[in-house]
Amino acid sequence: MSFNVGPTLFRWIERSEPELYAKIIEADARSLKRWGHGNAIGQIYHHVIMPLASELDKQVEVAWAVADFESRFKRKPEGMWLSETACDTASLEALADEGIIYTLLAPRQAEAIADLGTDDWQDVDEYSINIKEPYLVQLPSGKTISVFFYDGGLSQAIAFEGLLHNGDEFWNKLSGASADGLLSIGTDGETYGHHVKFGEMALAYVLSQGIKGRDGISLLNYGAYLEQNPPARKVKIRENSSWSCYHGVERWRSDCGCCTGGHPDWNQQWRKPLRDGFDEIKSLIDKHFFNLGENIFKDSRAALVDYGQLLSGMVSQTSFLKQHFKVLEKSSDASVGWKLLSMQKWALSSFASCGWFFDDLARLEPVNDMAFALRAIEIAKETGLIGLEEKFLSILGEAYSNEDRYGSGIDLWNSKIKTQSETPESLIAQALVRLYVEGAFPLPGEAGKIDWPGVSVVIRIDDNSLVMSKGEADIQWNLESEVKTFEWKWKKGERVISGELDVFGVSSGFQEHFTVADISWKKKQSLSLAWVGRIAKEAWDQKIQSSGCGPVLFGEFEDYQIAQTWSSKWKELWSGLVWTHLFSEDEVSDDFIKFITETGREHPDVDYLVEQISRTLCDMLHNETLVWGRVGDVLRKAKIIGLPLDIWKLQNCYWDKVQDGHSDSELSRVLGFDL
Ligand SMILES: [Zn+2]
Repeated sequence: MSFNVGPTLFRWIERSEPELYAKIIEADARSLKRWGHGNAIGQIYHHVIMPLASELDKQVEVAWAVADFESRFKRKPEGMWLSETACDTASLEALADEGIIYTLLAPRQAEAIADLGTDDWQDVDEYSINIKEPYLVQLPSGKTISVFFYDGGLSQAIAFEGLLHNGDEFWNKLSGASADGLLSIGTDGETYGHHVKFGEMALAYVLSQGIKGRDGISLLNYGAYLEQNPPARKVKIRENSSWSCYHGVERWRSDCGCCTGGHPDWNQQWRKPLRDGFDEIKSLIDKHFFNLGENIFKDSRAALVDYGQLLSGMVSQTSFLKQHFKVLEKSSDASVGWKLLSMQKWALSSFASCGWFFDDLARLEPVNDMAFALRAIEIAKETGLIGLEEKFLSILGEAYSNEDRYGSGIDLWNSKIKTQSETPESLIAQALVRLYVEGAFPLPGEAGKIDWPGVSVVIRIDDNSLVMSKGEADIQWNLESEVKTFEWKWKKGERVISGELDVFGVSSGFQEHFTVADISWKKKQSLSLAWVGRIAKEAWDQKIQSSGCGPVLFGEFEDYQIAQTWSSKWKELWSGLVWTHLFSEDEVSDDFIKFITETGREHPDVDYLVEQISRTLCDMLHNETLVWGRVGDVLRKAKIIGLPLDIWKLQNCYWDKVQDGHSDSELSRVLGFDL
């Protein structure tokens, strides 16, 4: 199955789900071995709507996407997915320029076709075009790119008509629609399992049938098919078209009527000023970049285009500097150069298409895009471009949320965006509180480090008392600046998120006062999550330790304990008692089993307990087959007391081991496998 994952999501998967990440990479390597062409396809770097991007941005988005892809799959991408399949000739030129040989479009994006070598064009639409062959687009530059059209009707049926509820029906539908050539479908990955529960099982079934060659059908990916079946015909594509807006690409710049449908009385007139505002500041940012870049970079455009190689870790900062900078490494000019590149990265991030896709300006997606723009505006200001924010707001003021409480774009900017702006004092305040809530506040003479994506803060403590702490802090914005050192003094209040913070720049003469309670709402939320995570864990460890002999002692009483004075205490200990019972071999009384079964039906700790048990069992499954007998015991005991374990997760953990050649008939049976 051909697939694409955008760099933003890929970064998250790599960090948060390393095992899944390794499987995705391996899947591509296996397909490459099998067919000579990998299943993985590239994707536009920031998921921008390419026809709406400038010529410069088109090139940068594709070049960075290629670099990101190459850093992961260790090969160049052959194909690239255009965000929302949004397409025009210039976007195809940008793909072809970077060596991309094919892309995928919706059938209604085809306008006319002709045999290669002729000019006998025939108009087509989504119903008349034969989608089972690839087409060549002959570009004005003389370059070419191939286009596959997916089956629109089938793809719709998968998303909206329940085709994934039964694998065999899914197969028969595909089989019935197939004919000579390549039948392909184009769907969002989240369809399989997220939108349609267990939809991934139907997909896996269909792929297994394809591998078996059922109905004389074989499975192949786009790259391999293209090599075996080069296009015999050419296509003219519909300029400014996409798969998710019937009006072309209007959804990402005007109130075209396309929306998610939940609010029939809302409008999307905010889309145009949001687009115009970003476009305006991006063109000013570009001018600023090239003005200053002239004296810093050997070739400003080449530096920007190649910056994706640095972002993806393909080259080091030192070698990038050697290749692209013409100023000294530690000079202030070099520092400006790094800032300019980072400014461009944030400005490009603000064009992520989800910002316009949904129904309102105040949603998370446009707010995120504006927060990216804010960062670009701040760096522009630091490097001497004044007035950008005012310019942006003069346009954004014409945008209004559909909800009165959020007001205009300017109101949102002041309430939701500007408050996210980081200063040395806000970063130091967050680092101090973070170290506190994580229970990692350093002792005097020691240091603690907090890493966020994009910036890191090292806190050194000189003095620490109940009322006052002081010390130094080193702040570094990644790929952007040298380390800057500050002195700080924190007059503490009664709670951690309170008190007064004074920050002094050690070499810059900088001096600021900050009230710790003024950390933005969004950042406070993150701090509170860090705190609750730690407290939950400590409370949990405590419960496990203290419930040691509880299950055995429970049976020693003559009366049924839940009727006693102490019954509420027994209930409080419930999760620890269950845990101890599941993982030990002690004999317990029937009364105990009855008690934990009944109490567990509506105990507030159920979700947390289930998560802890499932994670522990997965670790046991992954580590040693020697403890598999115990895993089976735990599952059996859990079943007896009706504990709703996450069997799906365990099945997946177990399946990993089965794939590696380990299996156990008893465990297979308990987990519902027919092996
Ligand atoms: Zn539309």
